[in-house]
Parts: sequence; structure tokens; C-alpha cells
Amino acid sequence: MRFEDLEFVNFKNIIEAIQNIDSPSRANVAKVLGLSKTTVSYVVSNLIEKEIVVETEAEDNGKRGRPGLGLKLNEKRWSAIGASFDSNRWSYVRTTLSGKVISKELGELVENPTPETMIESLVNEIKKHINEIDDYTLPAIGLGLPGIVDTIQNKIIIANDLKWHNQVNIGEIIENELKLKVFSANRFTAAGLAEFRYANPNNEKNLIYIGLGHGIRSAIFIDGRLLQGETFSAGRVSHIVVDENGPLCDCGKRGCLLTVANSEALEAKANELRKEKKYLSSRLNSENIKIDSDTICRLADEYDSCAMAALDSIVVPLSKGLGEICDIVNPKKLIIGGQLGSSSQYLVSKLRENMESKMSLELPGSHIQVEQAKLRELGSALGAASLVLENKAELLFEM
Ligand SMILES: [Zn+2]
Repeated sequence: MRFEDLEFVNFKNIIEAIQNIDSPSRANVAKVLGLSKTTVSYVVSNLIEKEIVVETEAEDNGKRGRPGLGLKLNEKRWSAIGASFDSNRWSYVRTTLSGKVISKELGELVENPTPETMIESLVNEIKKHINEIDDYTLPAIGLGLPGIVDTIQNKIIIANDLKWHNQVNIGEIIENELKLKVFSANRFTAAGLAEFRYANPNNEKNLIYIGLGHGIRSAIFIDGRLLQGETFSAGRVSHIVVDENGPLCDCGKRGCLLTVANSEALEAKANELRKEKKYLSSRLNSENIKIDSDTICRLADEYDSCAMAALDSIVVPLSKGLGEICDIVNPKKLIIGGQLGSSSQYLVSKLRENMESKMSLELPGSHIQVEQAKLRELGSALGAASLVLENKAELLFEM
């Protein structure tokens, strides 16, 4: 296989070195990789010709002699596409080779999505924008998908929160329809990857991302690596039992985190509280307000008593479930995202209060930082694009 050839290995390593080392130049890259300058110069010429890399004026390093020209990825030429299906619609991003977002787009709402309508929406929307897929778009697409995703065969194995119980072979369909190579991950895993890769200024290596929305899922990073698991379901926290007398879950157990802390559980709680008429001044009492999770999150951030109480009701089980995961994983940071986490600062601050006090009691000296996701609605599609970028050397080598 060509990807095992030394020529490819050098190509890939040199691209990565140019992206990652300090002050990359031909000489520095050769030094870091232990390659001859001739080899590096040869590959770099090829990279410049393919418009993957450009030369920059090197900084004068104070040493004698003319400083060599610097190198960097060409951020103006090639791009990668990522798409994620969340809250019943696709969102899209296009990024540069280093993962900077060039453009973003939100697709049409897919009412009561089935696997077929979800895929149809993706194919139509990508085809509509096909003009934007030019010769300099990496010939691939990264997908953030609901449910447990077989990331090797690019299949959805099961998506309980959407009640999809059969496999969905989305990778094969998309590769046939769009002639793009597919890379995939669970949508919350993709969002976690984006936070880990692009919103992690201190390069924390032990981190948990939790996506809260219609589904609940975590992405767990230990020592800088994403946990995948034997059958791709590592980080699936939604069926941790937090209330043995709680509502029956589709999985057959009672009181799973999903049943008591997802967006539907939040909406049900808000409706229940409204009926009790305890919070008379709450704007949720108004007849013409639609009680959906976005509204609850927004009102809680405006100190609406009923909305805050509804969110409090999911904070308790969430803290319990997340506390257990944090005890096992011992992360530095817990990042709260997904539709609920991204839209409610109140929810994040309550979780912070609960989790931080809980963890410091149990593990003296340890201090877990609880933060709101920074990339919000962009995160998942950006993480999906990063799956393409992970493979950019393979995609570019053949071009
Ligand atoms: Zn369950």
C-alpha cells in the first residue's frame, strides 16, 4: 500500500511538523524529524507546488547568517468540510487546513427525522452547495451523527434518542451519492473533539466533554487520547442509572440519566411546575409562551424562578452521574455543551457549584474545572471537519 511507503511517511510527517513545531523552516523540520535537508527540501517543494504549504519571512533568530525562510500551512487554498446532525437539522462548516472556520451554514429543519430523511437532507444540501466544493476542497466529508457510530465502517449502529433501532449505513450511501470519502463520529464526540483540539488553550490532556440535549453523551480524553471503546460506545453516559425509581427507559432500565436529564425531561418538568402554579411571577406561566428547552434556558439566565427550578431538577441527577464519571476518569476539566449546556449559563454555573463541591470533598486537593463549551453550535460540525483534517496527508498525497 502506498501509504506505507517512505515517500508518504515523510510527506505526512513533514506536514505535521510544519503545523505543530515552533518556527518551522526546512532546517528545523529536518532537525526535528531527523531527516536530511535534501529530503525535506524535496518534499517541501512538492508541498509548495501543491499549494499545501507557503513560505514565510523567518524571524531573525539573532544567530549569524541569513535566517532560512519559514514555512506554514497554506490557509488560503485547501479546505475541509464537516457536517453534524443535531436538533433535527444539519449544520455545516468549512475550515482551512489548520481548522480555522471559513464559513458556516445551518440546514433546513427535518421534522421527525428518520434515517432516510436525515440522509436526504444532507445529500440535497451538499449538492446545492456543490459549486462551493471546488478542486481545492479535500475530497471528503466529516459527519457528526446521532447514536453509537461505527467509526470504521461509518454506520450508525443504534440511536436510542431518535428511536432508530436499526443500523444506518450512511457512509456507503454518502460515498456513492456525493463521491466524497466519509469520516464519522457521534455528534457529541465530534463536539468534544472540537473543544479538545481548537478551544483548549492550555492543551489539557485529561478532559471530559458532556453534550446535553435531546441525547446525552460524553467524549472522554485521557492522556490526550479520545476513548473509543471496543464497540465505539465509550463515553455513552446516557444509561447510567441515577434514580432507580425513575421513568422507564427504552433500554429497559429505570431512571437512566437520559430519561431524567435530557431536553424532554427538562420541558416536562417545566410544564409540571407551571401547573403547580408555585411560581406566579414566572414568564413560563404566560399562555402564549412555548415551553421548549431553549426558552427555559433563556429565561433561567434572566433569573426566571420557574425556569431556574426546572433546570435545578436536572442538575441533581446530572451531578450524580457526572460525579461518578469524574471519579473514574479524574479529568482536569469538565466541559458542558450540547444544546442545553451551550445555551444556559445558569445550568453550567449550577453544575459547577454541585460538581466542584462534590469532587473536592471526595478527592482533597483535586479541583475540577467546570466550563461551558466555547464553540457552541459550531462545535460538532467543526469536530467533524477535524476528522477530515486528521487525514489530510492521505487525501492530499494522492492529488
Ligand atoms: Zn436507559
